[in-house]
Amino acid sequence: MNIILAKNAGFCWGVKRVVKLTEEKIAKSDSIIFTYGPLIHNQEVIHKLEEKGVCTLPTDISDNHLDKLPANSSIIIRAHGIPPDKHKKLTDAGLNVLDGTCPHVVKIQENVEYAFSHGRIVLILGDKGHAEVTGLLGYCPGKGYVISIEEDIMKIPENKPVTVVAQSTLDKKTYDKLTKIIKIKWPECQIIDTRCDATTRRQNEAIELCGKVDAMIIIGGKNSANTNRLAQICTNEGVPAFHIENANELSNVNFNKIKTVGVTAGASTPDWIIESVIKKLA
Ligand code: SF4
Repeated sequence: MNIILAKNAGFCWGVKRVVKLTEEKIAKSDSIIFTYGPLIHNQEVIHKLEEKGVCTLPTDISDNHLDKLPANSSIIIRAHGIPPDKHKKLTDAGLNVLDGTCPHVVKIQENVEYAFSHGRIVLILGDKGHAEVTGLLGYCPGKGYVISIEEDIMKIPENKPVTVVAQSTLDKKTYDKLTKIIKIKWPECQIIDTRCDATTRRQNEAIELCGKVDAMIIIGGKNSANTNRLAQICTNEGVPAFHIENANELSNVNFNKIKTVGVTAGASTPDWIIESVIKKLA
């Protein structure tokens, strides 16, 4: 069986950056290190960090519990970012806050904050409840709307100036479909394409790969939005797509009629998991 591995598979630069920040902190810190939510959507990486003493806090942790964390503890904000009021709460609780928000996400936050400060309503194209989207909503309190599907657009009553941004990992097809309808409802709207290049390259390459293979293997956490989206993109291309978390799950795939398989991976999949999958496929 031929195996084609996507060049853009695995950790994006934003994830590499926050993992490096965490590793460096582990190496030089005696105090407890917390992460605000799982650092990345990959259980195996989280377990490895836990073995090194890193504790994952739930993102819905109460202020009371925050106040009870040991003094001088460090807390790492993951690449998705958090709402500004949460950031303040962490600082107020006396924690040493290490901000791992991806610089690309910081730019989206700045766009949202600017639009809000100029009296505009903000439409965020993306997944309701996703950490990055929740963080962005915090920059436009009461004036932000999450648009996941076409019906969400129709429900928005406001007729104020509109700014549109997108979750960094949104796929082009959904982005094009939603912005087309938004332009009809608000012809004067400002649309800022905030999808990130790393994601666009990964998604485009997966689409290209689908044209060359009999099946696609997509590696990444089942709770990883960008990996799920990648798997959906491959399915939409009409290719059998298998979303696995690790090499062990390959045993569930029937490779009998597959001559060429493509492999890609989400932004939170480390190289060693990709390598183990390739090794098992070979
Ligand atoms: S997917 Fe893009 S925006 Fe998100 S962490 Fe990676 S580089 Fe940053």
